Amino acid sequence: MKAIITGGNRGIGLEISKRLIALGYEVHVLSRSGISTPPEGLFSWAADVSDYEQTIQIADKIGPVNILINNAGIMNAKTASDYNQDEILHILNVNLITSVRLSVRLAEQMANNGGGRIVSMGSIAGEIGHPDIWYGISKAGITNAMRSIARAFGLKGVIANSVAPGPIDTAMMKNIPQDRKDRLKAATIRQRFCTAEEVAKTVCWLATDAPECINGEVIDLNNGTNYR
Ligand code: NDP
Repeated sequence: MKAIITGGNRGIGLEISKRLIALGYEVHVLSRSGISTPPEGLFSWAADVSDYEQTIQIADKIGPVNILINNAGIMNAKTASDYNQDEILHILNVNLITSVRLSVRLAEQMANNGGGRIVSMGSIAGEIGHPDIWYGISKAGITNAMRSIARAFGLKGVIANSVAPGPIDTAMMKNIPQDRKDRLKAATIRQRFCTAEEVAKTVCWLATDAPECINGEVIDLNNGTNYR
């Protein structure tokens, strides 16, 4: 059993990688900086997912997989007015466009091989009108794309879902001002953010054991701060 996970070398992605390895998967991680001491069962590939052609070449070398996790992502500390066109295209390429194209490509393979599962990392940012406008747009987009892929390939056994976490304490959070973090934490039921482990547990459940009738859906993980 094989899985590809983008950005599976650190943060939430590494937790997902470790969990999938523990479940018996051969885990192929695509990232720019790699991982210095990869756990057994993790295969690290140098890839910049803003470059779709490079990403797909690596996916082709890995060959057919049972699971794709679209996890690689960036967030910028920029207002809408600060963005130039290149920066917009870059964040959309990393967070959305390559993930969608890779998902379509692998969904076709999965459908031909009897099925497979795709989980993408959305965010509460895709719901709330996030200060990083293009981050929010990318996260709303990926959630919708999973729904389209579920509808297009679901009859052939492809299950595609997303998760939408609130803030999680990883390197990505360093761009968020402390007073905003304090306010966000105070709005949670348990006065704490969800952990990377809790997100990984949910992602891996969707990628393996979750009932097949959960397809094209979104699971929120935000400790009660944003009920749909
Ligand atoms: P980190 O910043 O800790 O990790 C980001 C990951 O993405 C790294 O593995 C990084 O690897 C990879 N990545 C970034 N750019 C590229 C690129 N161009 N090519 C390949 N890989 C890339 O963030 P998190 O673990 O927190 O985030 C993981 C996902 O979860 C993201 O999609 C994020 O948007 C989402 N999320 C995070 C939340 C949070 O509060 N932390 C909340 C909701 C969603 P490398 O730098 O080596 O390339």
